[in-house]
Amino acid sequence: MSSLHPETRAVHLPNPPLNGSTPIAVPLYQTSGFVFDDPAVFADGMGRPDGAFVYGRLSNPTVRALEEAVAGLEGGVGAVAAGSGMGAINTVLFGLLQPGDHVIAQTALYGGTAASFSDLQERFGVSVTYVPQDDPAAAREAIRPETKLLYLETIANPMTQVADLPGMCAVAREAGVTTVVDNTFASPVLCRPLEHGADVVVHSMTKYLSGHSDVLGGIAVFADDAAHREVWSYATKLGATLDPFAAWLTLRGMQTLPLRMARHCDNTRSLATRLAEHPAVAAVHWPGLPSHPSYELAAKLLPDFGGVFSFDLVGGRAAGERFMSSVRLALLAPSLGGVETLILHPATTSHRSLTAHELQRAGIGEGTVRVAVGIEHPDDLWADFAQALDA
Ligand SMILES: *Cc1c(COP(=O)(O)O)cnc(C)c1O
Repeated sequence: MSSLHPETRAVHLPNPPLNGSTPIAVPLYQTSGFVFDDPAVFADGMGRPDGAFVYGRLSNPTVRALEEAVAGLEGGVGAVAAGSGMGAINTVLFGLLQPGDHVIAQTALYGGTAASFSDLQERFGVSVTYVPQDDPAAAREAIRPETKLLYLETIANPMTQVADLPGMCAVAREAGVTTVVDNTFASPVLCRPLEHGADVVVHSMTKYLSGHSDVLGGIAVFADDAAHREVWSYATKLGATLDPFAAWLTLRGMQTLPLRMARHCDNTRSLATRLAEHPAVAAVHWPGLPSHPSYELAAKLLPDFGGVFSFDLVGGRAAGERFMSSVRLALLAPSLGGVETLILHPATTSHRSLTAHELQRAGIGEGTVRVAVGIEHPDDLWADFAQALDA
């Protein structure tokens, strides 16, 4: 199985057999618990992530099929699904960290994750040092005897900086520090962080993995059994469990992930290059453009550059607001990774809690627009963007 391409793996899902045959599609096991003939099997199932199914908060066949499918795509030994991306991230952070531990995290972080690190720092006695995502020397300098975790994102939001996974993971490995990588923006089609030395991969499955803007979910994938068991055990206590129906929708969406990802990337290339030449646009931020600071790293690390980009309008905030109210096809909405093109204005929505100085430090302008590109025809998208720019 390990030699199969993602296109094949995504289609052929792990599916538990019935009596003498196996359903083609993974069935939805919409049940809260399971019935036992043998009390010993009942007892054994309580204690491990791969035992008999006992109770929905511990595991469920539909959820486990999804966990095995994502673990297969990422090249891990096992996975723990959660009710949202933040559910998965917090299960990993609170499952692995203790008061007194130190974390090194990249400066450009998803907002929800940054808020969790603030909580860990202010309420739970975990200290956090922030370093750029592509600076192994800074990471090495930040390591202390009590450093437990290095936290990275393959591609960051909304300026799409790419993490130097091989360089950063090597520094952590040398020091016995666990590396956790949020691979939501790349998906396992563009990057498998475990192959670059990471120990844990997390995803918001709400985005590309499910792919249809109809479900919330998260998952953590592990390179080794011990961490898998430790986090699974904490997950059963925390209870941020993924619902079987959400798992079933995610499995269904995931079968077309490689096809969708290719189209997201092609459409983004088309929009980003056309916008870069437009006089109303001051800058386009996408690691597939040679002008992006991560371009060289991205070209080495990734086969393509993802379906999210942002751009700055010449006219600042007023131009940003005018653009947002002039698009007709692109939808004003949070989130990303669905089949529809979605746009948002970070300064007034996803990053509104940042001060003017923090916005500036993150490189986010008053006129920055973030685009999560869908799978529509690229010419229709360009026509919409062009008329909104003219407005
Ligand atoms: C959306 C997102 C999350 C949070 O996921 P939810 O499913 O919304 O909880 C975490 N990381 C990244 C990079 C995301 O885009």
